[in-house]
Amino acid sequence: MIDATAVIADTPQGLWIDGAAVDATDGYRYPVLDPATGDTLTTVADARAIDAMRAIESADRVQRPWAVTAPRERSQILRRAWELVTERAEDLALLMTAEMGRALPDSRAEVAYGAEFLRWFSEEAVRVQGRYTPAPAGNGRILVTKAPVGPVLAITPWNFPLAMGTRKIGPALAAGCTVIVKPAAETPLTMLALARIFAEAGLPAGVLSVLPTSDAASISTPLFADPRLRKLTFTGSTRVGRILLARAASGVLRTSMELGGNAPFLVFDDADLDAAINGAMAAKMRNGGQACTAANRFLVADAVLEEFTARLTERMAALTVGAGHRTGVAVGPLVSAAQLDRVAGLVDEAVAAGARIRTGGKPLPGPGFFYPPTVLDQIPVRARILDQEIFGPVAVVTGFGDEAEAIDRANASEYGLAAYLYTRDLGRALRVTDALETGMVAVNRGVLSDVAAPFGGVKASGLGHEGGVEGIDEYLDSKYVALTN
Ligand code: ADP
Repeated sequence: MIDATAVIADTPQGLWIDGAAVDATDGYRYPVLDPATGDTLTTVADARAIDAMRAIESADRVQRPWAVTAPRERSQILRRAWELVTERAEDLALLMTAEMGRALPDSRAEVAYGAEFLRWFSEEAVRVQGRYTPAPAGNGRILVTKAPVGPVLAITPWNFPLAMGTRKIGPALAAGCTVIVKPAAETPLTMLALARIFAEAGLPAGVLSVLPTSDAASISTPLFADPRLRKLTFTGSTRVGRILLARAASGVLRTSMELGGNAPFLVFDDADLDAAINGAMAAKMRNGGQACTAANRFLVADAVLEEFTARLTERMAALTVGAGHRTGVAVGPLVSAAQLDRVAGLVDEAVAAGARIRTGGKPLPGPGFFYPPTVLDQIPVRARILDQEIFGPVAVVTGFGDEAEAIDRANASEYGLAAYLYTRDLGRALRVTDALETGMVAVNRGVLSDVAAPFGGVKASGLGHEGGVEGIDEYLDSKYVALTN
């Protein structure tokens, strides 16, 4: 067992405003819980509307100076932040496991992934380009320049406490925007640690604020009503995303929305089953299943259904469950009692409707919010577990007859984030990829996130992209300048 007490004690526990940790104006604090025990780890300052106003005032005050800071200087700050995150990787991993529970190897992987957005966007900061064209009528010239959209509100989830922040903060700072982050209530410490790293990296005070709060709407509602805010970037559930999009409409804000997923994982009868099983484990169990790209529905050709299910069951049943800081643990607790109830409820409902449990299927005794790796098959067609994002270590396996059925079933969802497919037939891989209604498709691999790729969904899974060369565009407006000859 590795002890995170010293790292927690060393982490800022106030609101981060104007380059320092400060108390909430009203003095509120709320507890951060340890999902492995349900005990309080520490308390952090709890922001309200008045604190949101402090943050937007700072963001607005420094927006212009930050926008005209040399791109190379912005780039250098991001680069130093990447170096510091990399140097402190182990402490950040311990912190994330402490506040969100998941196994330490997953936290270490997140630090590496999350840090890369800082390095990538330090490189992109100096590559923002406009364009120049002669007007077709020959009577003028068209110049297009790029300008930062202005102060950004970034609302992040608990499942990747660092990477979901760096994926927004990196491009926003590179583009010249100021940022107010509202981290998930469950995981404020990681974002506060990152804010301090940015200050050490030389980020001017006020450019980045962090507002932990137990009352998200008390922050977002006044910010949406404030004309100084120009952009919302959100990662979270489609349910909350819809509410926030509607609120963002009144200020006509630019929005980037990374919402829920219901990824199909297709295994065709010609697939390399060894590779498919390894990919299935990665796509399902990364982060204990708590990822919006997690394989949510395994759709397997009838000819290989039983072999696939049996082998997946064996691998899932062999995983060690326990407190995330314990050596050898592969699956930590879920983040909260509410998540545990939700996952257990989905499984119970499916089983009551006729699904078969191959392994797992019942919450583990407390304390802590533990659910075992679970495999279900013989799923009734109408089961809610096929429509909902499971967000836990539960694999749901169903069979299909032919390619057309596989595609229809894969697309039978309001979501369209990620899809996975396993086949040795290149023609089929390309055909199915074209037919899948998702923003991302992984072919013969179980992990698709990459800093250099545009992460994003279609349908109810969201708007816009994070990462890649596309990522910075979300924080830039085009300005057309008409020039005469
Ligand atoms: P998850 O299922 O990942 O917790 P949610 O959509 O519930 O996803 O939450 C994602 C983020 O959105 C969290 O930071 C949460 O606090 C925040 N959030 C939820 N409701 C609101 C709201 N009304 N205003 C602003 N943020 C909100």
